[in-house]
Amino acid sequence: MIFALFGPPGSGKGTQAKSLVKTLGIPQLSTGDMLREAIKAGSKLGLEAKEFMTKGQLVPDSIMIGLIESRIQQPDCAMGFMLDGFPRTVAQAEALDGMLEAQGLQLTDVVSFIVNRPELINRLAGRMVCSSCGASYHENFKQPKQAGVCDICGGAVVKRDDDKAEVVKARLETFLEATKPVEDHYRAQGRLREINAEGSEQEVFLRIMQAVRRSAQGVKSH
Ligand code: AMP
Repeated sequence: MIFALFGPPGSGKGTQAKSLVKTLGIPQLSTGDMLREAIKAGSKLGLEAKEFMTKGQLVPDSIMIGLIESRIQQPDCAMGFMLDGFPRTVAQAEALDGMLEAQGLQLTDVVSFIVNRPELINRLAGRMVCSSCGASYHENFKQPKQAGVCDICGGAVVKRDDDKAEVVKARLETFLEATKPVEDHYRAQGRLREINAEGSEQEVFLRIMQAVRRSAQGVKSH
């Protein structure tokens, strides 16, 4: 089972990915999380990526493609994996098609999260994350029980640097310009599953499961 979660920042990909990992038992490959870890570790990749991330821009394709290519070779990806935040450009999508094809694999579904723009801005403005396990919180809708402390792992709950208002705007623009065409790439391949990503976490989760199950069953019946 190989599928991708696709959508603008704030559309809920990360939150849903955490529930999907538990239900499906396949790893979440979040390129954003990988980059944030590289920044934390102070690696060369982290230093390079930080420059783009703090401006709300995309990290160059050559870096991202190399990163995902080595990640999908890891043993925990043998039974499948869920991409979160990759691919974000048509060049990344084409490179992914090529690397999967070379291993006789294919991406079955690209689940596209549809959320209206005012709602996205509202979600991003109040978003907080656990700096340790990545769990999501929100200033208005989902506060941790103890301020600043993650309910799940006790880590520090913080605001992401790139969730500040000026960077949020740039990230949304970047999504529209560079990332939206990726939808067309997968639509043309018949792999795009558009879901309404507004509503409760549970409602959205069920819509995703429906979208990916349909194709898992379809594949089995052939
Ligand atoms: P995310 O956590 O998915 O919102 O990603 C945070 C930031 O990491 C993005 O705004 C980009 O700067 C960078 N990033 C993550 N994934 C990619 C990707 N596939 N291609 C380019 N840049 C990325």
